Amino acid sequence: MKVTLLAFTPEPEKIVAAAARLCYSPDGADVLLEGLTQEKIRAFLARLMELGHLSPVEHVSFTFAVEGVSRVLSHQLVRHRIASYSQKSQRYVREDNFTYVMPPAVAKDKDASRLFREQMENIRQAYRTLRDMVHHEDARYILPGACETKLVFTMNVRSLLNFFRLRCCERAQWEIRALAEAVYREVKRAAPLLFAAAGPACVSDGSCPEGAMSCGRTEEVRLRFREM
Ligand SMILES: Cc1cc2nc3c(=O)[nH]c(=O)nc-3n(C[C@H](O)[C@H](O)[C@H](O)COP(=O)(O)OP(=O)(O)OC[C@H]3O[C@@H](n4cnc5c(N)ncnc54)[C@H](O)[C@@H]3O)c2cc1C
Repeated sequence: MKVTLLAFTPEPEKIVAAAARLCYSPDGADVLLEGLTQEKIRAFLARLMELGHLSPVEHVSFTFAVEGVSRVLSHQLVRHRIASYSQKSQRYVREDNFTYVMPPAVAKDKDASRLFREQMENIRQAYRTLRDMVHHEDARYILPGACETKLVFTMNVRSLLNFFRLRCCERAQWEIRALAEAVYREVKRAAPLLFAAAGPACVSDGSCPEGAMSCGRTEEVRLRFREM
């Protein structure tokens, strides 16, 4: 999996602080960005997070390119509706030599990984044969969920906070969790104040909502995210 931060809103924390300032002071648009020292930005952002007033963080977006992930992952990712996506098309791009993602649990088992590889090769051959018979927009129906894909996506900070809450959780599926953690590292480096309280629910909400399904490692998870 390769995750690249392509772009993000310039001065992300200052922009959010300016939006917050507009909400809580009589200042006009022409002075919103003036005198916003680091301490003032920190105070505005802390106030927003404390109040759960999250619309100002929607003004900041991050755009990522993701490669070497499966269609299983992308299917889960695009369920996050508050985002924009562009994904490699299996309608227009031929998949004669598609590469694939093998889950670690399969990779570490000799027999399982051999079976997996054999089936991927069988599907490749069946796809090529089928593509000679019908257009590849129909041949693609035979392709596996493991098939590698690439995409570009953009999410605003509010949607990212929700994404991390759900997908950084130990209960999330391993591949999308790996993506969520890679994205988390990038945005936290770019805007540490905006993501100071971000993470899975046990970090962002202060308690685990999973009940009997909890991983039971809340303290360990909190520590890991604090240090990330
Ligand atoms: C561990 C796990 C297991 C899952 N298992 C399944 C499963 O078995 N089957 C399945 O179908 N999905 C499953 N999902 C996907 C899940 O149901 C969500 O579709 C996905 O996580 C996207 O979350 P979201 O809707 O909060 O995100 P977004 O679509 O980005 O929405 C963000 C927020 O906006 C609000 N919102 C967006 N659209 C609407 C709307 N139409 N009406 C009201 N409010 C809206 C909600 O508050 C929502 O939380 C699973 C997710 C996780 C994390």
